[in-house]
Amino acid sequence: MPKNALTPDEVKSLILAIADQIIANEPFLSEADRNLGDGDHGLGMQRGFTAVKDKLSTMSGADGIDKLFGAAGMAMISTMGGASGAIFGTLFRDGGKALAGKSELDAAGYATFLRAACDGVTARGKAKPGDKTMVDALHPAAEKAAEVTSLPFSESAAAVAAAGEAGRDASKAMIATLGRAKTLGEASIGHPDAGACSVAIILRTVSDFAA
Ligand code: ADP
Ligand code: MG
Repeated sequence: MPKNALTPDEVKSLILAIADQIIANEPFLSEADRNLGDGDHGLGMQRGFTAVKDKLSTMSGADGIDKLFGAAGMAMISTMGGASGAIFGTLFRDGGKALAGKSELDAAGYATFLRAACDGVTARGKAKPGDKTMVDALHPAAEKAAEVTSLPFSESAAAVAAAGEAGRDASKAMIATLGRAKTLGEASIGHPDAGACSVAIILRTVSDFAA
């Protein structure tokens, strides 16, 4: 049944579902990074989300939604390395922190999570929309989430996933100005950013989970 909001135990299951999707997409994410970078993005994400699964096996919904996301973020920061360890770890850690005191995750909470996640990532990595990074999927997703806070969670999550995928697709036409892909200049045109592909997978998993 489409969900209006997620309980803390469902949030734990959601994070585990995200981990499984990212791990299953390792070859695709590595290929995306091979086109523009050094080809390790999929392996880094796989390592980080394997650590997330280990960490969450010691936790339950009773720990709180904020702590579940926070622990996931810290597990990623401490195990992944590379640019994306800090960046994706910050997404979960800062997004989670903004949900302190929330007993469920609804459309408004999802908007709060994504706004804090995007602010945290841009404060840490200094990427702006258009630099051809994961921010090009995360930023439009956060903007869309803020527009649909009155919808049931399942509907907001679907709209947010579509916005993130559109952002990922738009990154194809961008010239990289940050990270390893920067050295490619115009040769970076035509491929989507690997981190934006990861963000799109995460957001689509949220939508599928809520549907
Ligand atoms: P590395 O670049 O260290 O090899 P990964 O391959 O794991 O790290 O991740 C690359 C991804 O990280 C890029 O596709 C991009 O989305 C993201 N990224 C890199 N630098 C930044 C930054 N400053 N801000 C946001 N995202 C970034
Ligand atoms: Mg890389």
